[in-house]
Amino acid sequence: MTSPDVIIVGGGLAGCSVAWHLAPHRRVLLLEQGEQPGAEASAQNAGMVRRLGEDPYERALALRTHRWLEDGPPEEDWPDAPSRKTGALLALTHEPAHLHDAASHLKDAGASIEACDRPATIAPVLAGTRLSFAWHLPDERVADAWTLVSGFLRGAKRHGAEIRTHARATSLIIENDRVVGVQTDRGPIAAPEVVLAAGAWGAHLTPSHLHRPLLALRRTLLQSAPHPISSPEHPWTWIDDIGLYVRPEGGGWMLSGCDEALDPPKHIAPGSRGPVEPLARALALDKLKGLPALRDLRLSGGWTGLRTFAPDRRPILGPDPELPGLHWAAGLGGFGVTCSYAVGEAVAAWLQSEELPWLDAAPVSPARAFPRRWAIRPTGDVGAARLIASP
Ligand SMILES: Cc1cc2nc3c(=O)[nH]c(=O)nc-3n(C[C@H](O)[C@H](O)[C@H](O)COP(=O)(O)OP(=O)(O)OC[C@H]3O[C@@H](n4cnc5c(N)ncnc54)[C@H](O)[C@@H]3O)c2cc1C
Repeated sequence: MTSPDVIIVGGGLAGCSVAWHLAPHRRVLLLEQGEQPGAEASAQNAGMVRRLGEDPYERALALRTHRWLEDGPPEEDWPDAPSRKTGALLALTHEPAHLHDAASHLKDAGASIEACDRPATIAPVLAGTRLSFAWHLPDERVADAWTLVSGFLRGAKRHGAEIRTHARATSLIIENDRVVGVQTDRGPIAAPEVVLAAGAWGAHLTPSHLHRPLLALRRTLLQSAPHPISSPEHPWTWIDDIGLYVRPEGGGWMLSGCDEALDPPKHIAPGSRGPVEPLARALALDKLKGLPALRDLRLSGGWTGLRTFAPDRRPILGPDPELPGLHWAAGLGGFGVTCSYAVGEAVAAWLQSEELPWLDAAPVSPARAFPRRWAIRPTGDVGAARLIASP
C-alpha cells in the first residue's frame, strides 16, 4: 500500500471491526504489535453476548451487534457462524431491582426478556440456589471471538486493507494541532486519520494534553473438569449482584467470580494474559457454594485477562473533538465481544461524517466529562464497590 487514508492501531475485536467497516471506503492499514491479531483481551474472554448491561449506550451497541449476529454475518467472510443461540439467565440475590431499567430498555427495543419465577427449570445449574429475582433471555448468544476477528480481517483484506503484525505504534505524529500519522518502531507512517483501538495500551498512546482515562482491570476466568449437568444447550447464567457467572464449555463449566483488580500494562509489549491467583480462585470457590448443583465441581485451569474501561464504564468512540484526525475505539471493558460489530460500524460511520440513527455520538465522545473517582468491584459484588482516583 502506498499511503493509507486511515491507520488503525490495534488488531483486537475493536480494530478489526473498524477495519472491516472502513475497508470498502478507505485505504486502511492496521498495525498490530503482536505476532497476530486478536491475541490479547480478544482471546481471553468468556464469549457471552450480553445485552442486559448497566449502561444504555453499551446496550445500544449490544442490541445492534446481537441483531447482526442473529441475522447471520455474510458467509463470504464468515464461512463458520461466529455465534450461536444458548439463552441466558440473569439472576439476583440481594438487589432484585438492579437490572430493571436495563430490562425495560430491552423490552422497548423488542428483545425477548421475561421475569422468571422458577429459574432452575430453565437453568438446572441454579437448582437449590437462593435468589430474589431472575430474568430469562431466551435469545441470548455466545460468540467465538477468534471467528469474529478472522471474519473481520478476511473482509477487510478482500477490500484491500493491509494488516501489519509485529508493528508497534510508539506515538502519534501531530502537526499544526492535528494528527498526521503514526510513529512506529519501524519508522513514521503518514495518514490523515488514525484510529486508536489499542485496548489496555490505549493510555500509552494518548497525547499528554488530552484527558482520556482508560483503566485496565484484571479478571479471572476458571475452567472446570467435565460435569454431568453441563450441556451446550444450557443457558449461560450470571448472578449479577454478587458477581458470579457460569457458562457451559467443553463438557464442564467456564466460570468467574467477577474479580476486578487494577492492573495497567506495565510494559509496552503485548502479553496481557496472566495466571490464576489463589485469592481470585478462592473468591470464585466461595461463591460457588451458593450453587449447590455445582457442589462437586472440580476446577481444572484458567487464566486472567485485562478489561479496559473509562471511569464511567462507557466505551470511548468516535472522532476526538480536541485533536482532529484522531478517532477512538476503546474502553470496551467486559462487553467487547457483545458490542464488536456495532463499535466498528459507529467508528467507521463517524469517520466518514455519517450519522447513526441508533447511537448518539456525544455520550460516547472521547471529550465527555469523566468522573475523577470511580467505583471498581474488587470482589465482583455490586454492593461492595471501592472508589479509586482516575488517572
Ligand atoms: C476475563 C475476560 C472475560 C471477558 N468476557 C467477555 C464476555 O463474556 N463478553 C464480552 O462481550 N466481552 C468479554 N470480555 C471483554 C472483551 O474481551 C474485550 O472488551 C475486547 O476483547 C476488547 O477488544 P479490544 O480490541 O479493545 O482490545 P484487545 O483485544 O486487547 O486488542 C488491542 C490490540 O491492540 C494491540 N496494540 C496495543 N498497543 C499497540 C500499539 N502501540 N501498536 C500496535 N498494536 C497495539 C494489542 O497488541 C492488542 O492486540 C472479557 C474480557 C476478559 C479479559
